[in-house]
Amino acid sequence: MVAENIQSVTSRITRCCEKSGRDPDAVALVCVTKAATIAEAIQAIEAGARILGENRVRDAAEKIAAIGDTAAAWHLIGHLQTNKARDAVRMFSLIHSVDSVRLARAIDNEAWKIGKVQDILLQVNISGEGTKFGVVPSAAAGLVREFGAFANIRVAGLMTMAPYTDDPEDARPVFRRLRELKDAIDAERGPGKGLCHLSMGMTGDFEVAVEEGSTLVRIGTAIFGDTGSSI
Ligand SMILES: *Cc1c(COP(=O)(O)O)cnc(C)c1O
Repeated sequence: MVAENIQSVTSRITRCCEKSGRDPDAVALVCVTKAATIAEAIQAIEAGARILGENRVRDAAEKIAAIGDTAAAWHLIGHLQTNKARDAVRMFSLIHSVDSVRLARAIDNEAWKIGKVQDILLQVNISGEGTKFGVVPSAAAGLVREFGAFANIRVAGLMTMAPYTDDPEDARPVFRRLRELKDAIDAERGPGKGLCHLSMGMTGDFEVAVEEGSTLVRIGTAIFGDTGSSI
């Protein structure tokens, strides 16, 4: 089941890349295991998953203790509290959800303690929905610049979540806006210094996200089913 679903999601990503003239290797699948069991996460790895995404530090700790982090890398995709930064830098190769200077500073400090340069993404709230974390679009470029002062973090790109709707086309302007924001930041940073990643697209809207330039799609339900558990 998990293996077939990964296969199906992967081929949808590939088809979408072909249609929009993108290299399928430029889009990585983050298998979101927040609602999956440890056994299912292992099945995902056996089926070829190389990145697993978790929402919460505590849930991830349990899975990483059981599965390890050599067969697949772990990404934090959910909101991170400053007091969990210490654990997060020890567990995750990429933190998608940085949305304040205070949090960036805490991550930088903890990464420095263990001699790591922590890759992070700046989470942007494009839609302005009150329930979503992330900075306002107009603050993004300034924050990326400010984060540049921290020696132990590296801003690898931008992340967003589109509001949930039945029609994936509704998400397109959100994804396009994130890409335009990255383009503007890249232009400011100059040649060879562009941000690598746009983390956007989930089960309901990942094809639209790929068409709009996503490099990291975060997919849970299409792989592990809708178990109705944690957010
Ligand atoms: C749960 C979650 C996902 C995956 O959502 P699905 O719709 O189950 O694919 C992606 N990103 C974030 C931040 C999430 O919390």
